[in-house]
Amino acid sequence: MALRVFKSFPGANVCVLDILQAPAAAVVFTADPHGGPEAMWFDFCVEDAEPPPNPPETLVLTLRFFGNLLGGGTNPEYCRPVFRAAGKNWNRLSAPTVQRLADGQSLLQWHMPYPADRTEIALSHPYLPDDLRSLLQRSKGFWQEEPIGMTQRGRVLTRLNNGIHAADRSGQPRGLYLLARQHAGETPGSWVLDGLLDGISRRRSGAPWCVWAVPFADLDGVLAGDYGKDAFPYDLNRAWGKSPMRHETLVIQRDMRRWAALCRPELVLDLHAPGVCAREGVFLFHNPGEDETAERATQAWINVLHQELTPDFAAETFVRSPKYASRWETPRLTDFVRESFGCSALSIETPYAVCGTTVMTPKQYREVGRRLARAILNRW
Ligand SMILES: [Zn+2]
Repeated sequence: MALRVFKSFPGANVCVLDILQAPAAAVVFTADPHGGPEAMWFDFCVEDAEPPPNPPETLVLTLRFFGNLLGGGTNPEYCRPVFRAAGKNWNRLSAPTVQRLADGQSLLQWHMPYPADRTEIALSHPYLPDDLRSLLQRSKGFWQEEPIGMTQRGRVLTRLNNGIHAADRSGQPRGLYLLARQHAGETPGSWVLDGLLDGISRRRSGAPWCVWAVPFADLDGVLAGDYGKDAFPYDLNRAWGKSPMRHETLVIQRDMRRWAALCRPELVLDLHAPGVCAREGVFLFHNPGEDETAERATQAWINVLHQELTPDFAAETFVRSPKYASRWETPRLTDFVRESFGCSALSIETPYAVCGTTVMTPKQYREVGRRLARAILNRW
């Protein structure tokens, strides 16, 4: 019996604290901060190449230091990782059993089928460039992918567009710009973007929109398995000042200016996921601005998005003000957009595991995205 953990694949993240072989098979692990102050994302594989003749029926997964993860410490019930045996579909684990240690720390435990072929375990469904590749194939050329610059580690950063801009039609089309993964580990944002892009590509009528999208804003962090919230050298979503503090931000700012020159900028959506245990549903962060006309336009967008999500997915408190402490009090993407283009910009947060009573799967995340697409495209 040789139970092993692997983390040598794109997006992987884990600190293995212990592997027990007998009498029960068990892996004790936590999320690796990868040099940042916050940790949360984990994604790793377990494999037992030579299970014993009478193996235990389950593998016990124990997550340590839950209280140190962003949003951890409360409601462990809503921390529900996913797992996938090689060649099979993803499944979500149910609520953990919680063991309290004498010093007040909590251990979260789940039981998984065992023995199994190589099995991947993650905080939530991973979303990598290959997943985007299959969306682009399904959309049969609707989306064009263009390189727009480099990441801070020298990878090519790409942006999608739907090929509609002022040069093609009389009058300027309305503009929509989408981003995901400013925080690398926030994979629900990518699944929602996947549904949004799919919904847009299926629309056959209505007013033309000039739609551009950056699917992996922190591509380096996505591939490295970083969580990315408040990551060093600078949180991507706090690097949006007039002098951008990350090269990715500089690249995307210049891309947005090209977009704004080809359309009438209407709306920018920035797709995120909140702390590990949020469960209320999808919500958005918005700080009301001082310009009353712009604020009315943003409120109108908030209303149509809220209406289309319905209580199936929308949190009861749908609009929230980003009042939490940040390590960098410098502009966010939404601040940059408002100041540069005067259009509406909203950050959308989609929980990892549960929206109300709905257990989230890629299908459910995509449904959130399709509803957002419908809300946007049906306005005119
Ligand atoms: Zn985020």
